Amino acid sequence: MADLDTIVSLSKRRGFLFPSSEIYGGLGAVYDYGPLGVELKRNVRERWWNAMVREHDNVVGIDAAILMHPTVWKASGHVDAFSDPLIDDKASKRRYRADQLIEGHIEKLRKKGKDEQADAVYDRFVEALNADEPAPALGAIIQDEEIRSPDSGAFDWTEVRQFNLMFETATGALAEEANKIYLRPETAQGIFVHFKDVAETARQQVPFGIAQIGKAFRNEIVARQFIFRMREFEQMEMQYFVAPGSQMEAYEAWAETRMQWHANNGIRTEKLRWHDHEKLAHYADAAKDVQYEFPFGWNEIEGIHSRTDYDLSRHQEYSGKKLEYFDQASRERYIPYVVETSVGLDRTILMVLCDAYREEEVDGDTRTVLKFHPALAPFTAAVFPLVKKDGMPERAHEIEADLRKQFNVMYDESGAVGRRYRRQDEIGTPFCITVDGDTGEDGTVTVRERDSMEQDRIPAENVRRYIEDRIEG
Ligand code: ATP
Repeated sequence: MADLDTIVSLSKRRGFLFPSSEIYGGLGAVYDYGPLGVELKRNVRERWWNAMVREHDNVVGIDAAILMHPTVWKASGHVDAFSDPLIDDKASKRRYRADQLIEGHIEKLRKKGKDEQADAVYDRFVEALNADEPAPALGAIIQDEEIRSPDSGAFDWTEVRQFNLMFETATGALAEEANKIYLRPETAQGIFVHFKDVAETARQQVPFGIAQIGKAFRNEIVARQFIFRMREFEQMEMQYFVAPGSQMEAYEAWAETRMQWHANNGIRTEKLRWHDHEKLAHYADAAKDVQYEFPFGWNEIEGIHSRTDYDLSRHQEYSGKKLEYFDQASRERYIPYVVETSVGLDRTILMVLCDAYREEEVDGDTRTVLKFHPALAPFTAAVFPLVKKDGMPERAHEIEADLRKQFNVMYDESGAVGRRYRRQDEIGTPFCITVDGDTGEDGTVTVRERDSMEQDRIPAENVRRYIEDRIEG
């Protein structure tokens, strides 16, 4: 598998992703999507929306604002508890997440075959995470296990402190405490506060879901893995409202649907697995993550959470507005339970890039190829005239114009055809169409498929249907 540096450099070289404001030295953990990246992102987003909203008649969408009334974040628990346990290496002044240091230590012990010690530390770790005050308990593990700083190797730590991840800003001209607001750290709360509006206006009855795709912001302290952990990122979330008691059934069903979605995007299933939470949020009655095996190890890509009636109850309490639901079928009034599916759009992009990347030996040469699912590829097809004469460019442009009605298409007439194929391989274009001398005679073109590199000869007017069949086939 490619290492992360290879993916980072390809992303930049080919215009998938650039560090934000790079001419000024960049801004940590913030990235911009280039011309190829933005197409890939649009395709992933659209596939999620289609799978979650368009294909379920009881799931509808919203698009809420990033800024919300500050009391939302009191009610949700974010003001008091949305924090990470941090520890500083006094020698290098570098800051670490205490939980991640301990996880890394456990992994190291396992690699060394010290399973018994690893199990003991793990048990202590879980206990610490579930303690009323996790920070001192995590600090004690780091001390007792003599975990050293990964950068300086020193063992000279500060104590562990909780650090809130929300970005603050202020409304209006006065930077007073009363005007303090936050950039949303998740999209879910925009859904909860509109639960009633959506149920009424969309005439939905429990069970039903509300989906949303949008930006979220977290002041992540340890952000060293490209777009895996960003300070500004996008989430694709769905909150599914059910009658109390039926949440586990919905939880299992959505978990399966979501895992299948990743597989349907062409992600290799042996690189996907479930991971149970070490610690359940105090309001959750079940939670698990989809993990992907990144070049830097198994990591979360999506969370499936059974959140009980916590969120709606808290908003009812803080707003004083009734958020109960009257169930026509059972003639009961209740606050619905919620099952959430929450996946990072950018993290999905990183997974898609890592999973697609291959280096292959072809005729004594190495070709770099991105084996994207055809529906995700930034360009679906590239059209080439074999040479720049004899009417070939004109015919190629006609085919290009026809394909553009349906797909994102590139035209390329420069260099040898073999070179042009390689360029398309490297950006993951699944189909290359070449117009040659015979096209003028019999109306056929060559279609070359990216992964097999096989070539088909088909009538030019059938190219659109040919591609369409293969995208979903
Ligand atoms: P982590 O443990 O990795 O910080 P989390 O458990 O806090 O993640 P959730 O709050 O459940 O994550 O968010 C749901 C999804 O949003 C995650 O599975 C991930 O894909 C995405 N996500 C969360 N934080 C970030 C981030 N800083 N950058 C990119 N994506 C993120």
